Amino acid sequence: MPSPVIDLHCDLLAYLLSTTPLNPFDRERIGSSFPALAEGGVKLQVMAIFTPTKSGSTAMALRQSQIFQELCTDHAGYCYVVDDVEALDQLPTDDRLGMIAAIENASGICEEDEPLEKGLERLEQIISNTSRLLYVGLTHHPENRFGGGNNSAAGLKEDGKTLLQYLSGRKIAIDFSHASDALAYGMLEYIDQHNLDLPIIASHSNYREVFHHVRNLPDDLAKDIIKRKGLIGLNFLRAFVNNDDSNALYDHLAHGLQLGGAQAVCFGADYFCTDHHPDRSRVPFYYPEHSDATRYPAILATIADRVDPNLVTAMSSENVLRFMRRLWAEVDH
Ligand SMILES: [Zn+2]
Repeated sequence: MPSPVIDLHCDLLAYLLSTTPLNPFDRERIGSSFPALAEGGVKLQVMAIFTPTKSGSTAMALRQSQIFQELCTDHAGYCYVVDDVEALDQLPTDDRLGMIAAIENASGICEEDEPLEKGLERLEQIISNTSRLLYVGLTHHPENRFGGGNNSAAGLKEDGKTLLQYLSGRKIAIDFSHASDALAYGMLEYIDQHNLDLPIIASHSNYREVFHHVRNLPDDLAKDIIKRKGLIGLNFLRAFVNNDDSNALYDHLAHGLQLGGAQAVCFGADYFCTDHHPDRSRVPFYYPEHSDATRYPAILATIADRVDPNLVTAMSSENVLRFMRRLWAEVDH
C-alpha cells in the first residue's frame, strides 16, 4: 500500500478541453490521468485551471471550471471534491481521487481589455462551479494586467493590488510559481504593508541555486515562503530539474530542506499534455522515472534513501494537510 500522496499542480483540466466526451483515463496523453493517479497512491490532486494570456482566456477558464464539476458528477466513482476539513480527514480511507481546483494565471478570470469588476464576478462564478479554490496565481510566462510573469521584468500592477485586496481573508492562497522576481517581491511588500490575510505558496517550483531557470525560486524568496509557513511543490519537468541529470530532483529537495523547508516541501509535479508544445527541444519533457503519477512511490523510496527517511510522510501528504487545515480552520490559531 503506497503512502497517500497529495500533489499541488497538474493541468488535466486544460488537457480535457480537447477531449469529447471528457476522457481523464488516457495514460498516454498526460501523466496525471485518473488511472496513473490511482496507481501512484494520489489521494488529493490540485487541478489547475490554466489559460495563457490571450483573447478568449476567460472562456477557456470558465469551461475548465465546468469540466471540474462534470468530472465530479459524471465520474463520481473515481473522483470527488475536497472542500472542507472533514474531507481532508477522510482522504486516506477513500478509494477515489480527491480534487480541488486552483487558478494558474488570473488571465483566466479577466480579459486584458474589460473592466476588472467583470473579472471579479467571473472569479465568483468559477468558485461557485468548483466549490472552492486552493490558490490563485496572477500570471503565466508573460506580463498581464495584474503583473509580471516569470519571463518578464514587470512587477505588481494596480489590478494585481486590487485582486490581492479582494482575495484577502477568503482562505485562498496566492501562488508565486509563475511570478517574475519583481512581482514576487512586490506582492510580499504589498501584503505586509496592507496587512493582508493571504497565505503564499509556490505550487510547482524548484530552486534557482540548484539549477538556474527563471521558473525556479531564488533562495531569499524560497526562505520567505518557508518563513510564512507556505508550501513549495517539487516540479518534475526536466527543463526545471536539470536538462541533463534526473537525480538533480533530489538535490532540489535537499536544498529546500537546507533552507529550513522541512514543513514546506511537497509535490507539484506539473503534469501536462506535451503533444502540441511548440518547444520540441524540451522532449522528453519529463525523465522516464518521473514521467507520470505512477512514479510517486518509487520517488518517495528514493527520497527515503538519498535525502531523509523521516521526510517521506511530510513530503507525500502531511505538509500539505497541515497547511490546508490551518487555511480552512474556522477559528484562526
Ligand atoms: Zn505552470
